[in-house]
Amino acid sequence: MLNELTLSAAIQQLREGKTTSTALTQACLDQIEKVDGAHNAFLSTDAESALAAAAKADEQLSAGKTEGQDLLGIPLALKDNMAVKDAPLTCASKLLENFISPYDGTVASKLKAAGAILLGRLNLDEFAMGSSTENSAFGAARNPWDLDRTPGGSSGGSAVAVRSNQCIAALGSDTGGSIRQPAAFWGCVGLKPSYGRVSRYGLVAFASSLDQIGPVTKSVEDAAILMNTIAGHDSRDSTSVPEAVPDFTANLNQDIKGLKIGLPKEYFIDGLDPAVKSSVEAAIQTYRDLGAEIQEVTLPHSEYAIAAYYLIATAEASANLARFEGIRYGQRVDGDDPFTLNSRTRGKGFGPEVKRRVILGTYALSSGYYDAYYLRAQKVRTLIREDFLKAFNDVDLLLTPTTPAPAFLIGEKIADPLQMYLLDIFTISANLTGMSGISVPCGFTENPRLPIGLQLLGKPFGEASLLQAAHAFEQATPWHKESPTIATG
Ligand code: GLN
Repeated sequence: MLNELTLSAAIQQLREGKTTSTALTQACLDQIEKVDGAHNAFLSTDAESALAAAAKADEQLSAGKTEGQDLLGIPLALKDNMAVKDAPLTCASKLLENFISPYDGTVASKLKAAGAILLGRLNLDEFAMGSSTENSAFGAARNPWDLDRTPGGSSGGSAVAVRSNQCIAALGSDTGGSIRQPAAFWGCVGLKPSYGRVSRYGLVAFASSLDQIGPVTKSVEDAAILMNTIAGHDSRDSTSVPEAVPDFTANLNQDIKGLKIGLPKEYFIDGLDPAVKSSVEAAIQTYRDLGAEIQEVTLPHSEYAIAAYYLIATAEASANLARFEGIRYGQRVDGDDPFTLNSRTRGKGFGPEVKRRVILGTYALSSGYYDAYYLRAQKVRTLIREDFLKAFNDVDLLLTPTTPAPAFLIGEKIADPLQMYLLDIFTISANLTGMSGISVPCGFTENPRLPIGLQLLGKPFGEASLLQAAHAFEQATPWHKESPTIATG
C-alpha cells in the first residue's frame, strides 16, 4: 500500500511516475480515517488543502519541474507545537484549543518550499511536557503494538502516525528525549539534531536552552533526507548556528570499519529491563562484527542529569509559558481585574503537569532560591557537558539504550511524576549538552512483543556520522522490518 512506503521509496516512485502525489496523499488520508480512531495520533487534519497541494505537486511532477523540491508531493505531518500558517496550533492544551497560527515557522516554510504536503497536526503531551502523551488535553495517543500502552512522549503522535502509516514521515521536538523515546517505543527512527542545527522559529518554546526539532521516520535514510531540508542557519532564530550543512545522505553507505564507539559505564546500570539489556548487548556485537572498535568510557556526572534537567526545564518553561496570560493568545476566562483574568485563564487552560512545572520552575527561579537551584543546575550541566567532550576525545560516538524499559501501560505512571521523569535517564544528557542523538530499533521484548530502541549519541554537529553508523546497524539487522498489526477504529 502506498502509505506504507518509506520516504525514500515514495520520492522515487513519484519521480519515476509510478504513482501520483494525489494517490499517496489519499492513501494516507484513508489510513487516518481507518485507524486513527483507535490511535489518536492526529489532533486535526486538513484533507482539502492537502489534496489541493497534492494536485499542484502532480502538475509539477508531470511537467518535470522538480528542481530544488526534494520532497515534492510527499505527505508529512508536524507535531502540534510547530506553527503552520492557517492551521491549528494547540500544543495539546485547552488554552490554545481554538488558536490558529497566523504564520509558518521555519521548518513548515522549508518543508513547503521543498514541495511537501502537510496533512495535519500531531498529538503530544501538553506543551511537550511528558513522556507518554497522556498529558494531552485531547486524550492520550495509543501504541499500535499494544493499544493499552503509551506510545511514549512527548512526540507520541508523531511516532504513532509514522508507524501506523498515516503519513510518510513526521517531525517532532525533543527537549529531553521526546523524539527518541517515542521512536524507541514504536520501532521508528528518531533523530534529535544538535542544539542550533534546526531553526526553532515557530516552535512553541518549552525550555529554550534544550528544545530541538527533528525527524521521526521509518528508516535512517529517511531521517537523513528530512535533515537535508530542515537543517541550517536561520536569521530568525538567534540560537541557530551558522554551521555548514553537509548532505546527510551522502555517506550513509560508507562502511564503519575503525569507528570508535564508547559505552558509558554509568548507563549500563542495574534496573535495566533484561530484554533491553540483551538487545543492546547484541547491538554492540553487531557493531563489532561491522568493524567498529568498542571501548568503555565514563560520564561521571550522569547521576545528576535528571535533577539538573528538571530544574532547568521547569525554570525555562515557567518563563516561556508566562506569555499565555489570556490577553494575547487563545482562550480567555474573564475577570474583573488583570490578575483575576490571568489566574482564571491559566487555571482553566493548563493541565496538571503544566501547572506542576510552572510552579516548580517559578520557585526555582525566585530570588533567594535562584543560586541554590537554577544556577547550581546550570553548573552541573557544564560538568556533564565536559564529561561528554572528554569522552569524545577518545571515541566517535556513544552507544546506550534509548530507554531503561519498553513501552508502559497507559495510566501506569501518570500518578507518579518522579517515576515518569526517571524514564528520561538516557536521553536528557544530549539536550543538556547540546549533542546529537538518534534512536533506532534494536529488538523486541517477548510477550507482549514491544520494540526496543538503541541510542547513539554524537558530537555537536556530528549528525552525519551518527546517521552513517545508525544506517549501517539498520542494514545489518532485521528489526526495522517488523510491523505491528494496525488496529482499526
Ligand atoms: N520527558 C521529558 C519531559 O517531560 C522530555 C520532554 C520533551 O523532550 N519534550 O520534560
